[in-house]
Amino acid sequence: MKKDHETAFDDLCRHTRETALLAAAESALAWDERTMLPPAAAEFRSEQLTLLAGMLHARRTDKRIGEWLAILGDSPLAANLHDPSGTVIRELQRQYERRLKLPQSLVEELARTASLGQHAWEQARAKDDYGTFAPLLAKTFELKRAEADALGYQAARYDALLDDYEPGERTANVARVLASLREALVPLVAEIAASKKKPDISILQREFSLPAQETLARRGAEAIGFSFERGRLDVTAHPFCTTLGPKDCRITTRYDERFFSSAFFGVLHEAGHGIYEQGLPAEWYGLPPGEAVSLGIHESQSRLWENLVGRSRAFWQHLYPDAQKAFPAALGQTTLEEFYFAINDVRPSLVRVEADEATYNLHILIRFELEQAMLADEIPIADVPAAWNDKYEEYLGIRSHSDADGVLQDVHWSAGLVGYFPTYALGNLYASQFFVQAEKDLGALGPQFARGEFAPLREWLNKNIHQHGQCYSASDLVQKITGKPLSHDHLIAHLRGKLAPLYGLN
Ligand code: ZN
Repeated sequence: MKKDHETAFDDLCRHTRETALLAAAESALAWDERTMLPPAAAEFRSEQLTLLAGMLHARRTDKRIGEWLAILGDSPLAANLHDPSGTVIRELQRQYERRLKLPQSLVEELARTASLGQHAWEQARAKDDYGTFAPLLAKTFELKRAEADALGYQAARYDALLDDYEPGERTANVARVLASLREALVPLVAEIAASKKKPDISILQREFSLPAQETLARRGAEAIGFSFERGRLDVTAHPFCTTLGPKDCRITTRYDERFFSSAFFGVLHEAGHGIYEQGLPAEWYGLPPGEAVSLGIHESQSRLWENLVGRSRAFWQHLYPDAQKAFPAALGQTTLEEFYFAINDVRPSLVRVEADEATYNLHILIRFELEQAMLADEIPIADVPAAWNDKYEEYLGIRSHSDADGVLQDVHWSAGLVGYFPTYALGNLYASQFFVQAEKDLGALGPQFARGEFAPLREWLNKNIHQHGQCYSASDLVQKITGKPLSHDHLIAHLRGKLAPLYGLN
């Protein structure tokens, strides 16, 4: 006969998995809305999505979850925090408590402000008018303070918000690693900016026909191991990756006929996210052992394939002949070395989403430092644009003359996403540290890439990261895989190792 805790565990898993099935139906409709939906159908779709959101909310706050968890808390199934049953109980308990702590009135106020905020942000950005957005930004941070206080924290208020994206991570730890990264990166970027050696980036701005771009991007995604049997690639204005089921991962991109990099590297990036999703254990679909561990780890997978693999010389030793065949007019007379230098162009710029592999991290640092100060109420909202520009000058040596290309460029704060930005830089740091360990375990990867062999690396990532779902926190994973806590050293060594010879640095 089944014991009480075994029945409770089965019931909890069934309920949670069914919630995931419903959420996947919501995701399918949302994917369709962003890729295929005829304009006149938008209102009907919004009605469907609102209904589903209500149903999902009711299932996620079902009182029975608390009852099941109460039975399971001290049961043998919860004893091992890192095995699948312990992970189910630990993570669902964490999520359930988080929901209980937030008063319904605050949740609704946050949702309303995010909706108004995004609208105000779009308008303010179009008119380059920070003043009209400032009151909503102030309101957003006021509510995020209330949210953090309701959730509770030990050391820093920011911890409570960071926990939503990077569970278990601490602000102090992230701040320490990112400050070390900044100290090493600011001088490296300055040295590169001062170098007389520059790539010819006009190579990438020739004419690249869209069908040939799509063919090459698919070949790249397939080569690194994104399964088109279990996934699709479609076109959207803002690229993303979404999972609709254990064998159904959708990635999207946008094509620019006059810029090679946006679609090709965008597809490698999203395929990296997709390979992670496709590598999660399907038998735990919809439950914590079958889900990605954190945004930072997710981003480590996309950045690893996009940058550490996709911008390596070895990768292009394999694929460049195909690229030349696909674009004979644009690349036929361009050498591999010229192309390789162009795709590794590093230069300070104002806009995060267009930034290169190295300076990107400084864009993130600026946002991370500012949002901590805003959350702590250490900086008046009216002074944020000036503080933004001062930091760009200090870290990147450039200054924006418009707020549209400055403080108004990102959607995150207007949508109430505070604590999200550092996960992008964490992704780059995790990726480099994992890559170093993969080379220790698998031998030099460059020669493998040059032969078109990407499966050993993908299988290594699968075994060490994907298969664990949420059984280990991000920081535990880093420690378990590499034997060390997260450090800035590996990313700096990677960037210096690649960029110093290209730019003739010492
Ligand atoms: Zn990403």
